[in-house]
Order: sequence, then structure tokens, then C-alpha cells
Amino acid sequence: LDLSVDIAAKPAKTLPDAQTVTSVRHWTDRLFSFRVTRPASLRFRSGEFVMIGLPDDNGKPILRAYSIASPNWDEELEFYSIKVPDGPLTSRLQNIQPGDQIILRPKPVGTLVLDALLPGKRMWFLATGTGIAPFASLMRDPETYERYEQVVMMHTCRTADELAYGRELVENLRHDPLLGELYGEEFASRLLYYPTTTREESPLMGRITDNLTSGKVFADLNLPAMDAANDRAMICGSLAFNTDVKAVLEGFGLREGANSDPKEFVVEKAFVGDGI
Ligand code: FAD
Repeated sequence: LDLSVDIAAKPAKTLPDAQTVTSVRHWTDRLFSFRVTRPASLRFRSGEFVMIGLPDDNGKPILRAYSIASPNWDEELEFYSIKVPDGPLTSRLQNIQPGDQIILRPKPVGTLVLDALLPGKRMWFLATGTGIAPFASLMRDPETYERYEQVVMMHTCRTADELAYGRELVENLRHDPLLGELYGEEFASRLLYYPTTTREESPLMGRITDNLTSGKVFADLNLPAMDAANDRAMICGSLAFNTDVKAVLEGFGLREGANSDPKEFVVEKAFVGDGI
């Protein structure tokens, strides 16, 4: 009996739920992004997260929640990650190279999905740090622009170099052939980008909460103030950020919704803990 054909067709996977890294890009000493193969059976809604990880020294998986940063039509999966110096997972994950394998549990979940919000005119994506990851997915999903006339991406980091991943993504989107074909030149006015820094001097500065409450972002983008009739929002950052932004949105009359009960905004943690 010759099994060699079968063996050649199905190479043994060294990890359960293994996927292969196809590219890695380091943005700063604290941030990197990478792409992996996508399991053929994996369906997800843009904005959802999965558990990914690596085995520890004893072969036991170290798994963490990660937002899928790529849109649901993409052949591969992209992730955008922090490097926590002593972090059980990211101290290892930051060393991955193309060809390496990671563990990916194919069970996507999450609240930052279009179905969790009522129809509206304008969608606000509000993120700090790696909290931009789910919006990197949603900004690249044509369905976002089918549902909303305008999308505003507010992203805040401590320093300007930490904005680079989001900045490049938005610039590439504005030249995206698919979206260009669908919306033409008008697309530039449909995806608005408002990057700010809190610790380093840059063209736009300040916390998202302050720029919303002062009205600066509305004035800068020539938009009316948020209201419950027109505006929808998704929030993704530290627990403190989420709590503060939630209060600001409620001040504008927006209510928190969920998959089972769509309203005007939804919230998800970008990580557990205080942040670094
Ligand atoms: P951990 O022991 O998990 O964390 C160590 C410390 O680092 C903690 O104090 C924690 O507060 C802080 N920390 C963890 N993650 C971050 C972060 N992203 N930004 C700032 N501080 C952080 N992380 C990503 O990098 N990208 C993602 O897309 C992402 N999506 C997530 C989605 C959800 C729903 C949740 C709950 C978490 C997500 N995280 C994401 C965080 C991720 O699960 C891990 O915490 C992170 O990869 C660090 O793992 P670790 O084992 O190295 O350290």
C-alpha cells in the first residue's frame, strides 16, 4: 500500500489549527502587523475577533483575542499587534517570520459589526492604539459604504509614528481600485480621517473625548455635531477610553446597542487590563 500521494497532498500540521505566516511588517518598536493564511472554512463579519497564539516552551498554547484587521473578502487574514515586552504571547509573537505557523481558533465573535447598529447617515470609528484593528477591517469592507454615506476614522496615539499603520491604510484605500470603481472620486469625501497625537506635536492633537466635546473635530471636518438621528459609532480602546467615550456619545443622545439589540453605538475592549 502506497500512502505517499496522500501524505504529499496533506502535509502534517505541527500545531492544531495552524496557519502559516505570509508577511510581517514592523511599524515601531511597539507595533507590528502580519498576515497569515485563511482557513478555507473561516467566515467572519468585518470587525470580529478570533483567538490566536503560539505554543509555550512545553507546547501548551498561549492564546489571546485579536481583532481581524483584514476585511471579510480578503484571501488572507491580517492582524495588527502590540509588542508587550514581558507579554506571554507578544514577547514571542513579535519574532514570527514568513513561513512560521501560528495557532488560529476559527471562531470569530465580537460586537463591532455593522448589524449591531441601526441604519444612519454617518459612521464614526473611534480608536486608540491597536484599537484601530477592527476598523482596518470595516474601512476596507464595501458594505460599510453601502450602509453609510460617510465614515469618519478618529485614531489617537501617543506619538505620530504610532499612527503610521492607520495612515497608510487610509491612503491606500483612497486609491483602492474596487472602491474607486464603486464610488469614483467622490470616495475621498466619504472616508474622513482624523488622526491625533497626545504626547508628540503633530498637525492634529488631543484626546478623542476632548475633540468631540469641544466640537473641534466637527469644525475641522466641516460636519454637524453628532446626533442620534444621523450618527452611529463604534468604540475600541482601553477600558478607560471606552468608558469616557461612551459617556460623551450618550451626551449627544446616542445609546449603546448590541448584535441582538441594534442602537446607535457599540463598544469593544482593545485589550484587557490597564494598558502600557
Ligand atoms: P498580556 O498578558 O495579554 O497583556 C500584558 C499587558 O499589556 C496588560 O497589562 C495589558 O493591559 C497590556 N496590553 C495588552 N494588549 C495591549 C494592546 N493591544 N495595547 C496596549 N496595551 C496592551 N491586541 C493587539 O495587539 N491587537 C488586537 O487586534 C487585539 N485585539 C483584541 C481584541 C479583544 C476583544 C481583546 C479582549 C484583546 C485584544 N488584544 C489585541 C489584546 C491581546 O488579546 C493581548 O492582550 C495582547 O496580544 C498582549 O498579549 P500578551 O500575552 O503579550 O500580554
